[in-house]
Amino acid sequence: MRLTRIAAAAAGIAIAALTLTACNSGTPGAGPNEPGGETTENPWTVATDVSLEGSPTFDAIKARGSVNIGVKEDQPNLGYLDPATSVRSGFDIDIARWIAASLGYDEDKINYVVVDSANREQAIINGQIDYYVGTYSITDARKEQISFAGPYFVTGQGLLVAKDSSITGVDDLTADTVVCSVTGSTSIQRIKDETPAKTVELSKYSECVEQVKNGQADAVTTDEAILIGYAAFDPDNLKVVGEPFSEERYGVGVAKGDTAFVEFVNAMLTDGGDVWTAIFEKNLGPAGVTGTQPAVDPAE
Ligand code: GLU
Repeated sequence: MRLTRIAAAAAGIAIAALTLTACNSGTPGAGPNEPGGETTENPWTVATDVSLEGSPTFDAIKARGSVNIGVKEDQPNLGYLDPATSVRSGFDIDIARWIAASLGYDEDKINYVVVDSANREQAIINGQIDYYVGTYSITDARKEQISFAGPYFVTGQGLLVAKDSSITGVDDLTADTVVCSVTGSTSIQRIKDETPAKTVELSKYSECVEQVKNGQADAVTTDEAILIGYAAFDPDNLKVVGEPFSEERYGVGVAKGDTAFVEFVNAMLTDGGDVWTAIFEKNLGPAGVTGTQPAVDPAE
């Protein structure tokens, strides 16, 4: 399926310097749009006359006239809302915007809905969101409840610790180590299954980062791409250690069985390698995240 991209994109938004915490000393994740607030154009275009037969998701979007997208907003470089400027940014946010634009919906027709890891499947099943883009690993268990387009990115689980920590990798997690992660994530499950560490479960990774900073937890565990964003915010106090110890393939979560929508997004990703690269280099490249675009898997 080829996509129609006719209308020119609206002017890109300025991405302000990130301000996750007051101690931020730099502007990690700063892409070509910032700092300084210069605007650049988005690498995608807003399509017109989009035809997408047989997709209940697209039918609902058309009837509503806007797109409801599930996202994160506390993950710098991936899904982030700057509390100071109210600017939303990140690789996942741009993937979400690119999908909306390919469906014919520009930024002013997007409603962002923040959904934590534990509530993603239910938000899709309830129809609260049309699709979800937020460090969402494709897993067989989740595929029993929803469908995935993608993968659009691959990363692996890692550890974030205090700068002076002696933990150097997953093998250093003992029964005396307190590891914080998020309810409903693949990250917390793997630590429970594969290490003797004590676990603390919270709703958001940013809450776990605070626990490490104030000494309540010894490590935060989740995908390296997420942890690199937190470490870049506070390099004086935090570091990412060890080698990744899983493979996390990020997908776009959609209603189970909406094959037409999945195929549409997969075609967009497959045909849009240049857009993917521009989004990656804007959001993740500057923070030192490495990666190339994975091939989509039609079997998902
Ligand atoms: N990618 C992992 C997952 O989907 C961890 C990150 C997250 O919770 O979003 O469970």
